[in-house]
Amino acid sequence: MLYELGRAGYQAYLVGGGVRDLLAGIQPKDFDVATDARPEEVEQVFRRCRLIGRRFRLAHVRMGPEIIEVATFRAQPRSSDEDPDHEGDEDDPLHLTDDGGRILRDNVYGTLEDDAFRRDFTINALYYRVTDFAVVDYVGGMDDMRARRVRLIGDPVTRYREDPVRMLRAVRIANKLGFSIDPPAAGPLPDMAPLLAEVPPARLFDEVLKLFLSTQAEKNYADLTSTGLFAALFPMTAEALQAFPDTEAVIHGALAGTAQRVRDDRPVTPAFLYAALLWPVVRQAVDPLLADGASLAQALTATGSDVVAEQVERVAIPRRFSTPMREIWQLQPRFERRRGKRPMRLLEHPRFRAAYDFLLLRVAAGEADQELADWWTEFQEANPVERQHAADNAPGTREPRRRRRRRGGGGRRRNRQS
Ligand code: ATP
Ligand code: MG
Repeated sequence: MLYELGRAGYQAYLVGGGVRDLLAGIQPKDFDVATDARPEEVEQVFRRCRLIGRRFRLAHVRMGPEIIEVATFRAQPRSSDEDPDHEGDEDDPLHLTDDGGRILRDNVYGTLEDDAFRRDFTINALYYRVTDFAVVDYVGGMDDMRARRVRLIGDPVTRYREDPVRMLRAVRIANKLGFSIDPPAAGPLPDMAPLLAEVPPARLFDEVLKLFLSTQAEKNYADLTSTGLFAALFPMTAEALQAFPDTEAVIHGALAGTAQRVRDDRPVTPAFLYAALLWPVVRQAVDPLLADGASLAQALTATGSDVVAEQVERVAIPRRFSTPMREIWQLQPRFERRRGKRPMRLLEHPRFRAAYDFLLLRVAAGEADQELADWWTEFQEANPVERQHAADNAPGTREPRRRRRRRGGGGRRRNRQS
């Protein structure tokens, strides 16, 4: 692929995470290619090529089962901090930054050197040339590779202001490689974490998944929490954890379980992850309703949509995940009802397995009895006869008193009390 661009007279390098991971001795997830060929020129070289992207135009070239991303060298957008003469954006529509220095558009072609300097970390700006196996390094990335250090290219504060997502990337990439974050890059994180509020929620959704649907989920959570980045992503959760610190065990459990599933190559779902990340908020929200005598089921129905609505202002949760997430919450009280036909109906619910896994996390957090979890564990494994027996002999069903829907019923009760 690189050879084909070379034969057509273009420069072509492997760059980014793939080269970085290779040098760190980690199996790369994918490779990106950087070239001086324009996207349209790349398209001429490869038959199986598609141009994508509005913000950056990229070529996707299919190589057997894999798709390789081919990007044309781009230049670092000038930020107003570095360029005091740069008055407005109007005269320079391709180099847009906002008043805070955030990059709004940066689709400007440049040289290989330009391309290196616009990247985030030095270890992400190493260019591997397959023709002679040389690594081209403009930014001292090889030194940082040896020092096992994540270092920003340029002034960290300026680079975070341009794109606050780089703060999350620093944490994620450091933990992925077992590197440390260079102190000048780590120092500003707590002060600058609130800038994440300006990043589009959809982009943060992608980053959150990369952070937490990962073998490093727990380490990432610990570092995001200690730097204030977590509170910037999930402000409601951070606040609710103050009032309900025990619910953090649900988050820890979910992250540990997720990390293990990723290691085992088993599927993981954002719905389950988000159910855990927002559970402290839900607990806090239902608390006053429970105190007023509502059942947990009623309280969850009343609060679930508000919690989601407020969170998606910060980090998006597509509906295909928020719907099953709320189902996981709403099924929780149904585990308490174990008599008659109810347990079989719950077992057949499409979200049963996720909700049961979530129950186990709540048990570990001390919110539900171990006995309840054990009962359901056995119930799942039992044959139909045993299940019938279990449902007939289920222990004291903590069922909410039956409230008849007949109007006037409540009135009669009130009369009796008076
Ligand atoms: P991984 O793919 O393992 O998550 P990566 O570093 O390859 O890590 P990508 O999102 O695939 O991450 O980005 C590819 C490359 O693009 C990076 O290595 C970096 O050089 C550059 N890059 C990505 N995001 C940014 C950013 N926010 N600012 C500057 N450069 C970036
Ligand atoms: Mg990558």
